[in-house]
Amino acid sequence: MSQLFGGLEAGGTKFNCAIGTGPKDIITHRIPTTTPAETIGRVIEFFKEQPTVTAIGIGTFGPIDPDRASPTYGYITTTPKPGWQFTNLAGEIKKALRVPVRFDTDVNAAALGEYRWGVARSLADFIYLTVGTGIGGGGMVNGKLMHGMVHPEMGHMRIPHDWVTDPYKGCCPFHGDCFEGLASGTAVAQRWGQRGEMLQPDHPAWILEARYLALAVSNLILTLSPRRVILGGGVMEQAHLFPIVRKNVVEILHSYIQATAITRDIASYIVPPGLGKQAGLLGALALGMTAR
Ligand code: ZN
Repeated sequence: MSQLFGGLEAGGTKFNCAIGTGPKDIITHRIPTTTPAETIGRVIEFFKEQPTVTAIGIGTFGPIDPDRASPTYGYITTTPKPGWQFTNLAGEIKKALRVPVRFDTDVNAAALGEYRWGVARSLADFIYLTVGTGIGGGGMVNGKLMHGMVHPEMGHMRIPHDWVTDPYKGCCPFHGDCFEGLASGTAVAQRWGQRGEMLQPDHPAWILEARYLALAVSNLILTLSPRRVILGGGVMEQAHLFPIVRKNVVEILHSYIQATAITRDIASYIVPPGLGKQAGLLGALALGMTAR
């Protein structure tokens, strides 16, 4: 019998659990995010009721401490989510289930899922951006998930804000009009007075949104030279954004980067996740498969 692995995608509104070996062999279970004690308790209960898993991977909202040498390794740290500051998520699960646990950001988990089964297969350098309620970024450099000192916070980079075209002041509680402050789903809803899903594809909201996305993606291309850029998350379910983002990126880079991926083949360079909405959960499972 082959080994089973566990995955946990920990989000602000729900915790998704998975047991299996890959996209075609997986059982899932959803738990609403309430208090840490209740939510983590229910996660542990789920895994205890199921066939034994060899290891568990956790991809979580953050910020987090992914540094194995740190005393707060495995914690969700300074999150604005009430009640969840300094929660020992990985530690509680490891203690209760007595299996190896690998812990990372939700975006790095999704990136690993795409590397293993999706549109980043065999790519050693790529970016995964998730554009939803907030904006997060991760991916790989030289075949390793990006960490550095803490972990990347691509959602909070600065991009030009044209106050004349867009007088909205931004929604980031830390920076106001950073990338997340201007281009997250929260920003779209506040700026236009209704949720993005309610806005028609020809609404001017999307021209502005695509411009902001393209500015950030261009900065990331110039900084990290990724071999592909994956854009996921709720906002990117507006598939009509992709062609406008690609066109803007080509314009912004202005033929400076001589790579056919950009000059000729941008439609397969800036892409949605191959695993769709499952990228985060399958990525957590992929983390579990490499836990030691
Ligand atoms: Zn910010």
